[in-house]
Amino acid sequence: MSELALLGGRKAKTKPFPLWPQFDDAERKALNEVLESRVWWRTPGRRTLDFEQAFARYHGARHGIAVTNGTAALEVTMAALRIGPGDEVIVPDFTFVATASAVLFANALPVLVDVLPDTYCIDPKLTEAAITRRTKAVIAVHMGGHPADLDALTEITRRAGIALIEDSSHAHASEWRGKRIGSFGAAGTFSFQSSKLMTAGEGGIILSNDDGFERNARSIHDCGRMPGEWFYSHFIYGSNYRLSEWQGAILTAQLGRLDEQTRRRHGNARVLDRELGKIPGITPQKLDERCTRNGQYAYIFHFNTKEFAGISTERFIEAMNAEGIPNQASYPPLHELHMFRNGEYRNCLSGPDAKEEHAFLKCSFPNTERAAWETVWIPQPALLGDEQDIEEIIRAISKIQRNAKNLASHDMEAAAPVHAAR
Ligand SMILES: *Cc1c(COP(=O)(O)O)cnc(C)c1O
Repeated sequence: MSELALLGGRKAKTKPFPLWPQFDDAERKALNEVLESRVWWRTPGRRTLDFEQAFARYHGARHGIAVTNGTAALEVTMAALRIGPGDEVIVPDFTFVATASAVLFANALPVLVDVLPDTYCIDPKLTEAAITRRTKAVIAVHMGGHPADLDALTEITRRAGIALIEDSSHAHASEWRGKRIGSFGAAGTFSFQSSKLMTAGEGGIILSNDDGFERNARSIHDCGRMPGEWFYSHFIYGSNYRLSEWQGAILTAQLGRLDEQTRRRHGNARVLDRELGKIPGITPQKLDERCTRNGQYAYIFHFNTKEFAGISTERFIEAMNAEGIPNQASYPPLHELHMFRNGEYRNCLSGPDAKEEHAFLKCSFPNTERAAWETVWIPQPALLGDEQDIEEIIRAISKIQRNAKNLASHDMEAAAPVHAAR
């Protein structure tokens, strides 16, 4: 019998990974206090206000504006920067759809560029080459918690006189050269959706050091109001993106755990770097030496099928799951999404943009393709595990590698037409 759990062998994982989300009496008490105070709305309350200030302070930013989710954080940022019809925003091809859809929601054009082959973050050279007279901003995504090249991107955007936005939905507590991410450019956006590094089920925040931007964004997130003015004065375009006191209360408790959890995730990920890096066919996402701390939304590695007897990425993931190691799907390339393929995205645009097929959609994105179809993502809760949990991940993957030939021939036999009775 095979050693592989997929073929009936013993599972590498002998005990469950930590559960997610994590909570204790801090969350219980905070929720109960909100309940009994009857202040469930942030406008008269203090909890969401306190949270946004604490989260901003933790990331070394002057301002924080809590919003309903990470997509909303990007939408409010677009509006606060007055990005609109005719404008272009450069976005990596490898990211969650929201990074691009927030640009379309502003009726502006997301221009997709490829990522780097090793960190899977936006390629600064391609970013610079994609800048036109219409470009208003670049949205960098800190993929899996690893910061995009903030040295190059701050320089490029400064020279071009355009805004740098950090989509930091994967990167709470990540650091670049010892400074926490989120306020290197005009704004940093975060998500508190359930899979993220801290959560209230849903939620988001925008960080900024720019007083003018903050004033705009705060007003837009609250129906165009201005702090201190009459409740029914609406000065600029806005909508309702306010977070509730329930979420503010939960997030304050979650923030209290973030530092310790980040230390654990970062530390465990470095053990995986060292040990998985020794397994033929496994290449961990590169850790740039300027990334002094990785928030580690996921543990990402490249899987080379050639070193695994030709089994597919999907089959490898099935084998991992059978061993008890969870997996999170990688993102498909944005340019391959239906809305870009069928031209639907152009319904958000106006003028000539609404008619033409955009040149960037005909480009090739080899690094994104590779990242999308050949990387494997271990979700962050597994990185909160102890030494044994990490040891078992390593054991599972090296077992699959050792037995890859066995799995490949098993699959071949299963797929072959049946000649004889078994
Ligand atoms: C999760 C995520 C978002 C959107 O956040 P929501 O809270 O789910 O709206 C945006 N960008 C990236 C890279 C994300 O991972």
